[in-house]
Amino acid sequence: MDFVQTAPVLGNQYRDDRVLHAYLERALPREVHAAIAKDLDELGAHAATAWAAARARTPSEPVLTQWDAWGNRVDQIETTPVWRHGAELATRYGLVAAGHETTHGAHARTDQFARVYLHHIASEFYTCPLAMSDGAATALKASGNRTLIERALPHLLSRDSATLWLSGQWMTETVGGSDVGNTETTACRDADGRWCLHGRKWFTSAVTGEMALTLARPEGTDALALFYLETRDSGGRWNGICVDRLKDKLGTRELPSAEIRLDGALAEPVGELAHGVRLIAPMLNMTRTWNAVCALATMRRCLALAFEYARRRHAFGRALIEQPLHRATLASLQAELEAAFQLVFFVPELLGRVETGTASPEERALLRVLTPLAKLWTGKLAVRIASEACEAFGGAGYIENTGIPQLLRDAQVYPIWEGTTNVLALDVLRALGANGVDSVITAADALLGEAGDDRHGVRASLSAACDWLATHSAHRDALEAGARGLALTLARCFAAALLARHAAWAERERGDARARAALAIFAGHGLTRLSSSAMDAVATLADNDDP
Ligand SMILES: Cc1cc2nc3c(=O)[nH]c(=O)nc-3n(C[C@H](O)[C@H](O)[C@H](O)COP(=O)(O)OP(=O)(O)OC[C@H]3O[C@@H](n4cnc5c(N)ncnc54)[C@H](O)[C@@H]3O)c2cc1C
Repeated sequence: MDFVQTAPVLGNQYRDDRVLHAYLERALPREVHAAIAKDLDELGAHAATAWAAARARTPSEPVLTQWDAWGNRVDQIETTPVWRHGAELATRYGLVAAGHETTHGAHARTDQFARVYLHHIASEFYTCPLAMSDGAATALKASGNRTLIERALPHLLSRDSATLWLSGQWMTETVGGSDVGNTETTACRDADGRWCLHGRKWFTSAVTGEMALTLARPEGTDALALFYLETRDSGGRWNGICVDRLKDKLGTRELPSAEIRLDGALAEPVGELAHGVRLIAPMLNMTRTWNAVCALATMRRCLALAFEYARRRHAFGRALIEQPLHRATLASLQAELEAAFQLVFFVPELLGRVETGTASPEERALLRVLTPLAKLWTGKLAVRIASEACEAFGGAGYIENTGIPQLLRDAQVYPIWEGTTNVLALDVLRALGANGVDSVITAADALLGEAGDDRHGVRASLSAACDWLATHSAHRDALEAGARGLALTLARCFAAALLARHAAWAERERGDARARAALAIFAGHGLTRLSSSAMDAVATLADNDDP
């Protein structure tokens, strides 16, 4: 009989995730971890059943119907079956609400993003509008606009699917997504003094949502203002919005991303007309944080599947996981994931402190720099790891209904939306300029201090980054040309420092050497990869995956 390879099986993604478990044990008070463990366990179980269910059905995509049988313009979007349950799961597990609730104090954001991390892949990118809804809630709170806060926040933060609202973030136009200063959408007042928007938004990923925050230029001014609008009127009709078409995309195909026209859409300014970009900044910081957590979730899914498959699949007389080169390959990817995990989850940790007023000025400055750093580095890393995951499955990794190609196609969105790698690298330069490089280096140093002697060249790289900035600070073009290299170096330095801190804790508190092994591999480069200690680290990391 012909041999038939068994497919990889995904277990409960909470129970099986050693890195998440150890992190939550370290970062959360015992009672907070205990209080959220049941929800995380259910999300972990759902992740596994959703993966199996997706393999068993024909993929579906949203469909736009622009006209009804009688010639009326209707612009109805039928979403996928998973999306139709999106609100129910999002509210049951508080995927947005948990980040704003006060029960767990400064740990609210860590709780929330553990949930998002576990649910993202199963959600078919329903997390995209959830991210924007969280961003809208955060931006409205920061604006201090009481009317809009009272109107929208109970919906955005609802724990009831019947009252949940999703928000869009409509910025990108045909003239540009990075350079929103070119925005062509105009705002003018009608005879009743209400603001009406006219223009074309080129990418709107949550046109199915109930509201949006969007940029427009009030007529007769140079200002770019932030407006709040509701997509439908009280009778359920579109609020001066036409959906021109849905985008035909490389990935995220379940997510309805639309091109729309605003033709007199009624809207309200969120704050002072001149400060649109400043007012939308809190929203962007939130969506960038979601992006980093979702990129991390993709990496984790890729490696969970690749390790599982490597135990099932045999070549040259033994399981792939026993082939020294295959296990070293997977171990090096796992090391990148573990470092990225520590950096990404440090951002909600800081955010929680800032939002509850318990952060130091240094922590505030650090959050400003680490948010774009985490987003830009993990966006690129997710694509690399998803590509390696395809290869780790051999030919099967190229076959659609294994589910592996979709992970790669979907991953390619992380470096693009919410600011491309270059745009975020330039943002890091701005953040360093505003907060001073020294405070950032001091913060990294403090993290390393906690990590004992495990410094792995991080200090040398940080001081090289400082020297580079000092040398080029007067040469804007040279500074910009090197911004990506600088940002990636800083991201890896912080990730190494945070992983070192975690590794010291894991050894001390749990007698677990795997985080330290991950650090040795992550920080190793060039010929050090061939040292015997590097090979020992591979064995430590690849041989034992007990949570
Ligand atoms: C699936 C998907 C969904 C999306 N959903 C939304 C949405 O809901 N709302 C929304 O507003 N947008 C959305 N976008 C748009 C996205 O945010 C933009 O595509 C992105 O910000 C880039 O803008 P752009 O496409 O105009 O590219 P450009 O701005 O034209 O950039 C092209 C290239 O130039 C580089 N570049 C630009 N400026 C500089 C510079 N100064 N220095 C160096 N390099 C530079 C960029 O890094 C990029 O590589 C979505 C995009 C995708 C793919």
